[in-house]
Amino acid sequence: MPDRALCPRIARAPRPWLTREAGECAWPHDGDGATVRACCNPCGAAAYCPGHKALMRGPTAPSLAETLRDLARFVGEAT
Ligand SMILES: [Zn+2]
Repeated sequence: MPDRALCPRIARAPRPWLTREAGECAWPHDGDGATVRACCNPCGAAAYCPGHKALMRGPTAPSLAETLRDLARFVGEAT
């Protein structure tokens, strides 16, 4: 079960897992065992809606240019 603190309010109308239909997000919103509710936002052929798909991927890595800029700033502060 995902940590609630890490789950922004993405699900608009979560429903019991067993009532989820094809084309609805499978992300477990809350509950345990038989009381689990799924997100159920529209997701087409995907397993998860765009919001939960992005949540699973996590933050994006900084670009090389951003990394070099941060490194230069760190070295500048350290000297
Ligand atoms: Zn979702």
